[in-house]
Amino acid sequence: MSDDIPFDKTLDLAPDTVDEPMPGIRRVMADNPGPFTFKGTMSYIVGRGEVAIVDPGPNDARHIGALLEAVRGETVAAIFVTHTHRDHSPAVPAVKAATGATVYAEGPHRAARPLHIGEHNPLDSSGDRDFKPDVALKDGEVVRGKGWTIEAVATPGHTANHMAYALKDANALFAGDHVMAWSTSIVAPPDGAMSDYMASLNKLAKRGETIYLPGHGPAIRDAGRFVNYYILHRKARAASILHRLAKGETDIPTLVRAIYIGIDPRLTGAAGMSVLAHLEDLVTRGLVVTDGAPAIDGIFRLAG
Ligand SMILES: [Zn+2]
Repeated sequence: MSDDIPFDKTLDLAPDTVDEPMPGIRRVMADNPGPFTFKGTMSYIVGRGEVAIVDPGPNDARHIGALLEAVRGETVAAIFVTHTHRDHSPAVPAVKAATGATVYAEGPHRAARPLHIGEHNPLDSSGDRDFKPDVALKDGEVVRGKGWTIEAVATPGHTANHMAYALKDANALFAGDHVMAWSTSIVAPPDGAMSDYMASLNKLAKRGETIYLPGHGPAIRDAGRFVNYYILHRKARAASILHRLAKGETDIPTLVRAIYIGIDPRLTGAAGMSVLAHLEDLVTRGLVVTDGAPAIDGIFRLAG
């Protein structure tokens, strides 16, 4: 699957050590490897002396200790959070308590749409419901520190509150889980929404940052080209769903088996949610119909 995207899985980095993926940016990876996190969540440190931290990471004492050790003797002026999944934001209270930094994010965790009647949120346990920023950022807002300027870039889709952060003058973007080098992003309703996700990808494609520093995996050095591959991949996925529906397949498990050949079995559930996200979008666009709201156990067919 996804062999159309030029993935990069080269990452020679020990957890909870500090390296510098580009000048002026330090990186500390949490020790939380897994099928959704690759080798671990990346926490980034921007600047020297007076710094900002992007995504403090999971509530893991060793990671928090390593991050604080990395900035020892420096002032942490700001903490930026890309989104409120539990591998990105739960370390915020400890890092804020230790540093006094101001916490910036789009807002608390929330779903992209209300739950349908009878629906439960399979992602409930993955959201950090305790998170609340000190300052809620809007798209385009700018925060300045000594030697760095960061612009908030609203990128809903992976979560409704996903925010990327552009590092002005460096042509770099902290991409969170929106675009990653090692894998596609998970877009799973009700936290995620495919129409938002595609709009956010198109927005990034127009911006022109050349380096992305993602929430997981290595930096992306040719970001514009990579984002275009991501967009093409999603369009191809939607096309193959329409193709399978035209062949008479009607349910999500059958579509997953047909489309995600050779998938890691641990990711089958996520693949089903991703197909549901596409189907929601296709129903909204009038290309597909279903009875009632699009659901994981729903029956789908081509419109018309
Ligand atoms: Zn996430």
